[in-house]
Amino acid sequence: MTISKRQTSMRTHMCGEIGTSDIGQTVTVCGWVAKRREHGDKLAFVDLRDYSGIVQCVIDNAVDVRSEYVVKITGVVRPRPEGTVNVNLSTGEVEIGECVVEVLRSAEPPPFPVDARADDVDENVRLQYRYIDIRRERMQKNLRTRAKVNSAVRTAMESQGFVEVETPMLVPSTPEGAREFLVPSRKEPGSFYALPQSPQLFKQLLMVAGIDRYYQIARCLRDEDLRADRQYEFMQLDAEMSFVNQDDVLAAISTAVIAAAESVTGVKPDPIQQITWREAMERFGVDKPDLRFGMELTELTSIFSSTEFKAFAGAESIKGIRVEGKAEEFGRNKLDALTDRAKKMGAKGLVWLKVATDGTLESPVVKFLSADEQSQLISSLQAKAGDLLLIVADEWSMTCEVLGTLRNDLGRPPVHQGPYRYVWVTEFPLFVGVDKETGQPKPGHHPFCQPHPDDLDKFESDPMSVRSLAYDLVLNGWELGSGSIRIHEPEMQRRVFTALGISEDEANRKFGFFLKPFTYGAPPHGGFAFGLDRLVAILAGEENIREVIAFPKTQSGQDPMTNAPTRAENKQLDELGIRVLPPKV
Ligand code: ASP
Repeated sequence: MTISKRQTSMRTHMCGEIGTSDIGQTVTVCGWVAKRREHGDKLAFVDLRDYSGIVQCVIDNAVDVRSEYVVKITGVVRPRPEGTVNVNLSTGEVEIGECVVEVLRSAEPPPFPVDARADDVDENVRLQYRYIDIRRERMQKNLRTRAKVNSAVRTAMESQGFVEVETPMLVPSTPEGAREFLVPSRKEPGSFYALPQSPQLFKQLLMVAGIDRYYQIARCLRDEDLRADRQYEFMQLDAEMSFVNQDDVLAAISTAVIAAAESVTGVKPDPIQQITWREAMERFGVDKPDLRFGMELTELTSIFSSTEFKAFAGAESIKGIRVEGKAEEFGRNKLDALTDRAKKMGAKGLVWLKVATDGTLESPVVKFLSADEQSQLISSLQAKAGDLLLIVADEWSMTCEVLGTLRNDLGRPPVHQGPYRYVWVTEFPLFVGVDKETGQPKPGHHPFCQPHPDDLDKFESDPMSVRSLAYDLVLNGWELGSGSIRIHEPEMQRRVFTALGISEDEANRKFGFFLKPFTYGAPPHGGFAFGLDRLVAILAGEENIREVIAFPKTQSGQDPMTNAPTRAENKQLDELGIRVLPPKV
């Protein structure tokens, strides 16, 4: 007899675990009525469901049980009659007969059938009745996958000497770039806490405090528009280590990610490869490359160094991609749509060419290209008959962005269609773009990242070309997380603040509580954080992180089950010293 580990004082077995080895045994199972079918006048078949699966019970027709009633059934396990075995069910060879049924709780008819497929039910309705949605196999599987990942991550971190330390949820505003949620202070009306966008500052202070290796499965909150891979609240494996260089951090985090993946898939991923940010941009056009497919960007600038074709002449960067065998599929409308997409991203245009069966190029622009340019184009892109070639000539960052996006649009397989391709992207730029208001550079990650030691001599003269010791972990085109080696010397921190246009006064005002501890002996340190929701979603084959979160918000930030956010009472607002202005008309 299989005695389940989940045996309790109410049940002897889990529904989904009953099998032929239990034949002849009297068992008690508890669960929800998944289905009831009448079987003549006297008997009914009830499929009883708990999270482990379904078992068929043969009950007296007179017993009043309906869909989703909660019942306890005691009976004898027996083989199903010949010809009625259900090979699709783990318990399909047996049934429970001679049943005594106790109704533990009746139930209203559910708003949607629990066995319906997720895409058959409107997502708002699923979220409104999430407690019923979670009864379904898909959500049960996803939440259990999530638990496995959490558990594997904890084990991997602890086995490497990391200590779990919790950090506060009510924190000062921090400079990590995302919009924060603010919490008004009752004791000090007009003052606010922020909810942590990450435990960044606290984990660095734990290094000053000698914790040496910290980790936390931390809740982070960011008031950013929601998307398939973004929720207001999300979970990160957050970690920080002392006396390390970049390779130490990458190795520790790789160990945790590999363990998490193996716990779900049963297959240990290969060691995670590394590429630099520059290489990622040159080859894939984006800083989170999906390595599951080719269609890499090809550098073409030198071919057109003395071209007569105006659109290419003098361009800082000319790159192309080869869309294999797609020439015929792309008629005028589709090509116009691609061009529009490129223009919306800010490109001046998109040049397309098709390779004809005789190997020559066809395009309205062919007449502007010399024979030599055409043949070099074909050989550089390794173009073959039937291919579609897409070319962008623009500033370097624009050619990367446009072709990187088109590469993803045209080639990226769906999430559930593995394989898993992890990659570390290193040497991110220290600064990206310029703040429109201040005219100063903006930090690429956050202002505490260590500049690359080889670039310090051009720090003041050419700050935009300075690399940092910041790195991202990417899986199948999703950014799983980021980290960096941190600045631990006040002098270096001052140089970065100066480059960012933050005066000493302002720095002290904003982050004084963070900077002062560094004067008391800060060890060299670095860390990383990766989004558990994203990793779980990919491992579960889901396109949207809402599918792996028990109680997520909708795209518009609402919770249809609790109706949050809701209006506060005037009395509460008065206590907080908050006046709500009428909406602007
Ligand atoms: N706090 C950073 C983030 O959430 C990660 C890190 O630098 O450790 O992206």
